[in-house]
Amino acid sequence: MRKTVLFLSLLGLIVACSAPKSRVLRATNVPVLRTDTVKINIDSARPSALGEAAVTEAQQTAIPPIMTTEDRVQLLMRTGINKNADWTEAIHYDIRKPNFVIIHHTAQHSINQTIRTFQLEHTKVSAHYVIGKDGRVVQMLNDYLRSWHAGKSKWGNITDMNSISLGIELDNNGREPFPEPQIQSLMSLLDTLKTKYQIPFTNFIGHADIAPTRKDDPSMFFPWKRLAERGFGVWYDESNLSAVPTNFNHVDALRIIGYDVSNLRAAIIAFKRKFIVTDVSEVLTDHDRRVLYNLYRRYF
Ligand SMILES: [Zn+2]
Repeated sequence: MRKTVLFLSLLGLIVACSAPKSRVLRATNVPVLRTDTVKINIDSARPSALGEAAVTEAQQTAIPPIMTTEDRVQLLMRTGINKNADWTEAIHYDIRKPNFVIIHHTAQHSINQTIRTFQLEHTKVSAHYVIGKDGRVVQMLNDYLRSWHAGKSKWGNITDMNSISLGIELDNNGREPFPEPQIQSLMSLLDTLKTKYQIPFTNFIGHADIAPTRKDDPSMFFPWKRLAERGFGVWYDESNLSAVPTNFNHVDALRIIGYDVSNLRAAIIAFKRKFIVTDVSEVLTDHDRRVLYNLYRRYF
């Protein structure tokens, strides 16, 4: 009985947080999910409906419901109880909060394509937020739920980045600059998330940082320096690139910053794509080493 009470308490809290924001529903012209009533299976919807006006109430009720957020969370919660332990309920708790933000580019052609990808059963990928080129922000998952955006990844000693991070996807094919409205919306969203969840500024990083052998997003067009100036992520002091001591170990520095150096070549390329930008070779030049040393001394 007490276990049931715990389920319902936590579930109620999560479900309360899962309610779609009417602001988003009104502001978008993309297909949306109604997690509070009936879920729309976009996969079975007419492709021509994508990008058109939001699905009407009549259309929603005409489509049979699939598993709701409430059902899914309740199912998952059952696995968190150890059957071999006695149960005595504590009364002081809340839900675990995200502590990292991982920024991605979608490598797709439109925000509608990305939303559709995240709603197809077989893709097994998702993100908390998708931001369009026009600055439109679409939330697709409650901040407290675990999105499948990081994949196999590592940062420092953390090997399950999905469990502690929020995933933000920027609509971008990877070969183009990020428009100003998109960056403005991103920074506004980051401001909110940083304050709400007390996320350390060093914990705003990119997908390529945590999966350097597999990923290159966000691309070299992404304005990391500008973000760092707003308090999201790190940047080096360009006016003070002092000489590197002879005993400076660049492998240790990369590892201490967070990079997985088990594939050193990939780690160096990820580092250079982010901080050097104009050269993404696997060779660390004297200038690159000065940048790395500066970052290491400045923040870690
Ligand atoms: Zn990514």
